[in-house]
Amino acid sequence: NSNLVTFSNSFFMVQHTILSNTMTIRGIQQDLLSLLLQMGRDAHPNEFVALLTERRGVIDEVDLLPGTVAREDSASLLYDMMPLSTHVAGSCHSHPNGVLLPSNADIRFFPRTGRFHVIIGYPYTEQDWRCFSSDGQHCRMEVVA
Ligand code: ZN
Repeated sequence: NSNLVTFSNSFFMVQHTILSNTMTIRGIQQDLLSLLLQMGRDAHPNEFVALLTERRGVIDEVDLLPGTVAREDSASLLYDMMPLSTHVAGSCHSHPNGVLLPSNADIRFFPRTGRFHVIIGYPYTEQDWRCFSSDGQHCRMEVVA
């Protein structure tokens, strides 16, 4: 139903505006980052997508939604199913090809799901991740122990 999709998309944009004005993120928890890399390994050679939520300014939880795992174009499905939560900080997804840069589709969808977007890639070691802002610019993200 395209009307429903259009409605929900504009809702996300409104939510994004609110989040941008209020939320400060200072880092991502180390344990969570390890978990995300493990999830990337498990899904390989498929892509996985998940939402990231924060508590007190630290991204510390991954939120998997049903039906979003393991397809190359799964990102769009995820974004249309996103729950409204003031604690959604952004998203994480994997690039099985190992390229740690957002695709054009990624940049189109990033603004709908918060401000910070982690891309992890093959071979999923502790170095194989990067964080991007909603406009696709590389941004620093401190790893918090
Ligand atoms: Zn991507």
